[in-house]
Amino acid sequence: MRALILSDIHANLEALNAVLEAAGPYDVLWNLGDVVGYGASPNEVIELVRPRAQLNVRGNHDRVCCGLSSSLSFNPVARAAAMWTHDEMTDANREWLAAVPKGPLHPEGLPEIALAHGSPLNEDQYILTMRDAWAPLQQEGVRITFFGHTHLQGGFCQHNEEWHELRPQYATRNDAETWTLLLEAETRYLINPGSIGQPRDRDWRAAFAIFDTEASEIVYHRVPYDLTTAQGRILMADLPEKLALRLREGR
Ligand code: ZN
Repeated sequence: MRALILSDIHANLEALNAVLEAAGPYDVLWNLGDVVGYGASPNEVIELVRPRAQLNVRGNHDRVCCGLSSSLSFNPVARAAAMWTHDEMTDANREWLAAVPKGPLHPEGLPEIALAHGSPLNEDQYILTMRDAWAPLQQEGVRITFFGHTHLQGGFCQHNEEWHELRPQYATRNDAETWTLLLEAETRYLINPGSIGQPRDRDWRAAFAIFDTEASEIVYHRVPYDLTTAQGRILMADLPEKLALRLREGR
């Protein structure tokens, strides 16, 4: 089975289109949350994800944008984007988003796989370091947890007392590229596919991952997309300029 794993799309339609085109055929699609917020195409993005995804986990921006959580914890730019998104979404899309469950979720028949937005132990926690990764890696019966929220592609793994941070290595910053991780027995993984719509690892290309259960591998991807159009939409929507500028920096 090939599972396409998407996270932190953040209403970036151009990035999502490039990802769906680059992904090729897949059997299931799992969305790790933050479908909206920051970008200018919340309805279009929801309408692409909604019919395709078998599993959706809610993100913190999803909660705030559909009014489930207060925006007080957000910085002014994120808050302005969340308020704009709330008003921009159709009632149907807002209702769909409000019903997306909190993680962790387990795909049917795969109890050893978990899907979360932040940490599987706390949906709002950022897993940035080995220290953050420790407790989530100890979950009973879970071998691979897919998570997002940090917008940093990579993750962590643990085999007994051995620990590693996973960071895909790419040759360029412009072309479509992949980096393959072969999964080893007796090893636990925390896998972050990276952010589609607003990467923060100094690489502007849209990030995603494909989990191939037969080949027992995870293939990380980076794909270029029509950045100019995505930036133009943000500016034309009167969203904060910073949200357009940061896309080019990948931060
Ligand atoms: Zn996010």
